[in-house]
Amino acid sequence: MSPSLLEPSPQTLTAAIDADALVREATEAFERGEHARAILIATRAETLAHELDDRTALIQALRLLVALYSREGQPELAIVVGQEALQWLRGTDDDTGRADLLCNIAACFLELGLNEDALSHISEGMAAARKADDPRLLCQAYNRIGMANGQLGQFDEAKRFFDDALVIARELQSAEELYRTLNNFGVVAALSFDASRERGDAICAAKSIAHARSFAEEALRVAQGSGNTYREATCLSNLGRYLGVSGEIGPAFELLDDAYTMATRHGHKALALTCDSQRAEILVAAGRHHQAIPILLVSLERAESLFSNRLVLDMRLQLYKAYKARGSMADALAQHEQYHALVKAQLEHRSNTQSRLLLNRLELDQARFGAERAQLEANVQRVRAERMEAHKERLEQEAVELGRNLLADALTGLGNRRQIDRGLPPLLLHAASSGITLSIAVLDIDHFKKVNDRFGHPVGDAVLKALADILRNTLRAGDMIARMGGEEFLIALVDTPSQYARETCERLRIAVEHYAWDDLAVGLQVTISIGLCTQVTSSDAGEILTRADAALYKAKHAGRNQVAEIAGVLPKI
Ligand code: GH3
Ligand code: MG
Ligand code: MG
Repeated sequence: MSPSLLEPSPQTLTAAIDADALVREATEAFERGEHARAILIATRAETLAHELDDRTALIQALRLLVALYSREGQPELAIVVGQEALQWLRGTDDDTGRADLLCNIAACFLELGLNEDALSHISEGMAAARKADDPRLLCQAYNRIGMANGQLGQFDEAKRFFDDALVIARELQSAEELYRTLNNFGVVAALSFDASRERGDAICAAKSIAHARSFAEEALRVAQGSGNTYREATCLSNLGRYLGVSGEIGPAFELLDDAYTMATRHGHKALALTCDSQRAEILVAAGRHHQAIPILLVSLERAESLFSNRLVLDMRLQLYKAYKARGSMADALAQHEQYHALVKAQLEHRSNTQSRLLLNRLELDQARFGAERAQLEANVQRVRAERMEAHKERLEQEAVELGRNLLADALTGLGNRRQIDRGLPPLLLHAASSGITLSIAVLDIDHFKKVNDRFGHPVGDAVLKALADILRNTLRAGDMIARMGGEEFLIALVDTPSQYARETCERLRIAVEHYAWDDLAVGLQVTISIGLCTQVTSSDAGEILTRADAALYKAKHAGRNQVAEIAGVLPKI
């Protein structure tokens, strides 16, 4: 972690507060309907959050932009931003956020007519909504999947989703969800009406438009209850169209007039134009093309200035029908050609959009995989370093053990000859320089050859091990005990006056003599002889060992099982 993260500089701190504050400010602007301002602030929040690597603020800013761009009729941009937000959200366990975002992206795909993409996002969104266990989200997802199915002409499928959505919306007693579901249900029933009328299925058409009307009526009541003018105007306009295509032209026009007035008063331009288009459609269907044509020509111009392809297409189609019915074939043909040119352009645009969005997603995926790979590589490096560290530790441990083994006698665990060679000289030096009294003794088992011969080599080994234990138990921890080889041992009694060294050796000799050797082998008896060199002042290990050996020789010759002493200080001649 970099120090700046541990201790944020005043600048960073201000900036971190600002990213959050900007998101809040943008949200407030959005809620007030100031979309352009909200987009500006949310974009700044996004940039800042990116700079600061503040994921939470970044996701919030991006989600806000998705909602804003889709409201502002820029579904493509909303999708691009939404896909980025989705990348970040996929790394979190925020199922609610994911479900909401996926549904919003799906709505944008629907808007662009990219129904397959919409469906794939909806199904992912639905899975997230189920996981989040949020009925409101589930209701939205059902609505969107119902809508997508409706646009794909799968009306039965759509109906099933709307039925489910309605159950949830009623349970939730949410005006918003109820309005949304009823209105969508009505729109899809009207699409079903168009399709059945097209294929000449009058019964199905009548049933569908009746459904559409009853849903629109209920939606209107909900919208009126909630006081939302946009929703109310939408319902009025839809209901007007449904009545109009059912032949109830008078009431239809009344509703459309109300819708138009309301939409114009509240600045919903596209909605007002939709009312015109619906009025014209009804007039054309009623054979009143002379009335329909001027309305359509004026609103076509307005629709073109609003860049609303959907409305322009609608109007050109109506104009074609009106001119044809009037017998103006050249005008009808011109509208027909323009209509098809527009459809073609729209299809091309759609496929371009799809490719662009696909590319965008691929780039995002690539960036994510890049980041994941970097993370993975960092992990591999870390694991490798840890393994190397562990290996190093093991090697060091092995080296320590090896070192210990090199200096230890395998049979008794005491120090070995190497230990004596390495440890004795510094001990002698230290004693010589510091004046500490030191005694060195060499100890040898009496007639050990006979032990082996009579009881076998394993018993001989057991005797050596038992003797090592006796030595360990009898001597102090600071004393040096080592096996010189065969059945010969060396002991160094540190800071021990001569008298005490003598007593220690004697105690040792007696301990061996009285040890329960019989337990090892019946009839076994073991004694030791000790050559003790006291008052060691020479720092020459070889010389001291020779003197101790000489003492041992004396003990052996004097009859074994005894301690013989020699002074470490060389007698002055
Ligand atoms: P002395 O009283 O004069 O010391 O007689 P000794 O038999 O002990 O002396 P000698 O040096 O003749 O014999 C030593 C024996 O110790 C010979 C050898 O077989 C035996 N020996 C040496 N190392 C080992 C060992 O690791 N295990 C066993 N079991 N015997 C050993
Ligand atoms: Mg010997
Ligand atoms: Mg011996």
